[in-house]
Amino acid sequence: MTKPQVLIVEDEPDIADLIRFHCEREGMGTEIVGAGKLAVDLVKKNAPDVIVLDLMLPDVGGLEVCRRLKQWPETREIPVVMVTAKGEESDVVTGLEMGADDYVVKPFSPRVLMARVRAVLRRRAELQQIPVDNRMERIDGRLVIDPDRHVITIDGQQTDLTVTEFGILNHLAQRPGFVRTRDQIIAAVHGRNVVLSSRTIDVHVTALRKKLGGLSGCVETVRGIGYRFCETPVAVG
Ligand code: CA
Repeated sequence: MTKPQVLIVEDEPDIADLIRFHCEREGMGTEIVGAGKLAVDLVKKNAPDVIVLDLMLPDVGGLEVCRRLKQWPETREIPVVMVTAKGEESDVVTGLEMGADDYVVKPFSPRVLMARVRAVLRRRAELQQIPVDNRMERIDGRLVIDPDRHVITIDGQQTDLTVTEFGILNHLAQRPGFVRTRDQIIAAVHGRNVVLSSRTIDVHVTALRKKLGGLSGCVETVRGIGYRFCETPVAVG
């Protein structure tokens, strides 16, 4: 396997160097660019495997960079991990809805950032393989989601879910560890003739967690943003 290439879009040299240090320690190749417009041009010429994108940039802001990259078919699939300042939840929500894959909040722990970067790279590698079987196994096989038959199995026991509950779980489980906003969940479940509002999502999630029993922790609330699927749910009594 060739070295994964990380494009670091960050105008603060200290932070850019810190990210580079951790990426290279994990065997990734890096390139740093300190301005948004330059970043877009660079990605179009030479696509990296993942982009770590600061939202506060001197020229074209990170959100606009993300919007532009997600518009072009050639750059759309490149995963983006956003770096945001504290208290910018609305930017995070906007970015995720534009197609960014995940985010960290400054000041971030390098360990957390690298976990996010590895997760998006893993996910990308998974997507590039063509699935023969649509069934998804999660949590070491304890949870099996079968979208063709529309059933789930928990620890070998088949469990009935409503159409909406199934849609929410199926959507979140496709990208473990990645945050989904309520609007994204609504859009994903919508095609199934279900009318959902932000508020009713929470009600469905509560019902879904009840049915998930000991695995209920796999549907995690991300305060102020939405939900995410957790591969290592904390056992609840
Ligand atoms: Ca910055």
